[in-house]
Amino acid sequence: MAKAIQRYDNLAAARNYKPGKTNNSSMEISEIFGKNTLTLDKLEERLPKAAWKDLQKTIDEGETLNNDVADAVALAMKDWATEKGATHFTHWFQPLTGSTAEKHDSFITPNQGGGAMAVFSGKDLIQGEPDASSFPSGGLRPTFEARGYTAWDPTSPAFLIENENGTYLCIPTAFASWKGEALDHKTPLLRSNDALDKAAKVALELFGVETKRAVSTVGCEQEYFLIDQEFVYRRPDILTSGRTLVGAKPPRGQELDDHYFGSIPERVLSFMLEAERELYKLGIPVKTRHNEVAPSQYELAPIFEMANVAADHQQLTMMVLKKTAKKYGLECLIHEKPFDGLNGSGKHLNWSLSTIEGNNLLEPGESPHENMKFLFFFTAVLLGVYRHQDLMRIAVAHAGNDHRLGANEAPPAIISSFIGDQLHDIVEQLVNGGAKSSKQGGLLGLGTPVLPHLPKHAGDRNRTSPFAFTGNKFEFRALGSSQSPSFPIVVLNTVVAEAIEDMTNDLKKAKKGESIEKALGKVLRDRLKECRNVIFNGDGYSDEWQQEAEKRGLLNLKTTPDAIPYLAKKENIEFFEHFKVLNEREVLSRKEIWTEQYITTRTIEVDTIESIAKTMIYPATVRYISELSKAAKQAEKMGLENSGSKNMLEKVNNGLNKLGDALDKLADVQSKLEYSDSSEHASKVESEVLPVMTEIRDAIDFLERYVADDYWPLPVYREMLFIK
Ligand code: ADP
Ligand code: MG
Repeated sequence: MAKAIQRYDNLAAARNYKPGKTNNSSMEISEIFGKNTLTLDKLEERLPKAAWKDLQKTIDEGETLNNDVADAVALAMKDWATEKGATHFTHWFQPLTGSTAEKHDSFITPNQGGGAMAVFSGKDLIQGEPDASSFPSGGLRPTFEARGYTAWDPTSPAFLIENENGTYLCIPTAFASWKGEALDHKTPLLRSNDALDKAAKVALELFGVETKRAVSTVGCEQEYFLIDQEFVYRRPDILTSGRTLVGAKPPRGQELDDHYFGSIPERVLSFMLEAERELYKLGIPVKTRHNEVAPSQYELAPIFEMANVAADHQQLTMMVLKKTAKKYGLECLIHEKPFDGLNGSGKHLNWSLSTIEGNNLLEPGESPHENMKFLFFFTAVLLGVYRHQDLMRIAVAHAGNDHRLGANEAPPAIISSFIGDQLHDIVEQLVNGGAKSSKQGGLLGLGTPVLPHLPKHAGDRNRTSPFAFTGNKFEFRALGSSQSPSFPIVVLNTVVAEAIEDMTNDLKKAKKGESIEKALGKVLRDRLKECRNVIFNGDGYSDEWQQEAEKRGLLNLKTTPDAIPYLAKKENIEFFEHFKVLNEREVLSRKEIWTEQYITTRTIEVDTIESIAKTMIYPATVRYISELSKAAKQAEKMGLENSGSKNMLEKVNNGLNKLGDALDKLADVQSKLEYSDSSEHASKVESEVLPVMTEIRDAIDFLERYVADDYWPLPVYREMLFIK
């Protein structure tokens, strides 16, 4: 009894939590935006003219920076940071763990007079040398070669992280082994930017467009759950795995659809306002916030930025959300599937192609059928995605995401593209000889003259498509909420670079003696014929689509262990090598790391559910059984009718036996698991261990419905999901 009362006491405390006003809550956005980033404007002010010009060339055109400039930037950076109270600096990087890493050094250097001064040179800025031995390398670096290097990325602005007790400077960097092989997410992303730029520039010349650099732009929508932090400490599964491994469906889930876009609870709103201010300070342009489909689920979206900066900002966004939530007694769950039976969380990667001057190459305009440039790049994206479905699938493959993809709440594991009616019609016209018209959207009358007529989009939305064209960008919706967007961006950039390169060559050939319109018509027809099977405007959740996709020969790699081995295919290695995005060793190391990560994640989950079963559920159930049997005996003594207790006793006892059987089975399966390499290990974990985990869960969820609430040792869904 005592336990249950304690549980509710704590809850009441959480509910009464009154957050104070945030720092800076009275400041205007324009005052705080970018306050803690060393923006280009600020650097320009602080740098000598020549140094600024050189730096700009590096940022805009991808040229290598010389050492004198690095010294000048280092000085400007140190001055700016120390003026704002920073005492330390760190190279901030993104190892293949998927999160970020930092190692702080103080600016302080002792001087001859016994005092100290702040020192930070170009060398400190450009290169760092953290011990790399504990980061995943997938064989790229034997453990005796612990050396790893971080290298400054001048294209992403440095920023300050504040704490009540101090401030430090973070310098975005790449992270590589001493042989120069990428141990991180940023390096391949920067390389893929170069590949895309190179290919797109040649193509743009044919259309008479000049640009300093072609870039991809990215905006990531982030979904997350908020629950009371109190619960997290009482749920070993959330603590170790970020998700609930057990938990029966609550009497009320998301059936009423009353949470989606509903008004935001007060405590949550306070949290959001503070988190957004923190993001503004870091120069992250968050724009949209709303409730999501499941209870306690929310979403945040920024304005898009250049891919590299957007990827860095996405990591910071996840960090700020998590950090700020704690101040409000909340825990921000970024896992893909924190609660069974409710919608999971994704991260929509909005991606487009643009010139650095801001010309969006995927902007269809009023009459897309005449827009040659648009049709060329739009087709290139479809072609790239069609040809490399496996890489697109791998880019979103990880243990957490396996609970979403194909589970009728998130896009299926089949990669296809929704392009809407208008463009589909144009594609059909092109394939059949040439596009003559564009279906127009027209106006959407709302049935009353009071409301204005809204311009109707020529294509509706389709939530079931993993890769949808939405207006003037593609939206890759299959990403998991917790993942770094970097590798998906790398894949998109590179597959599109390849398609552009091929189509440019075709176009050059076809253009001989032809007008560009005619030549392009031919190229588009051939390439759309090749890739039109990837276009699907229907219901991606339906069974018919699974069959239809199979007929079309599209890949359907259902799980992470199914998908990851494709990375090591010869074509894929050659593909990444050709575009100088990853070399063979870098590709193979990623395959190894991601496979190991899958196995480790599942192993932690299995160990956790096993210990919950044995040390929490089993004892609680036994205690309850003992109480029930006492009651039954007592009733018998008193000559009372007691079928109720007996009945209950039987049910609970059955549940307990099922749990015992499932635990025995787990031990058996684990002891018999045989494999010859990590890929096979991952597959066996998926096909043999996971189903037993489900059996254990089912037994526990059954017991949850019968064991007395005050004996039940875990907070239940009902409690966790409806606390406002
Ligand atoms: P939707 O409602 O279709 O998801 P929004 O306009 O709300 O579209 O945009 C969603 C996300 O797409 C935002 O993060 C936004 O910044 C991003 N986005 C918009 N245009 C582009 C673009 N050209 N390139 C990359 N991302 C974009
Ligand atoms: Mg969207």
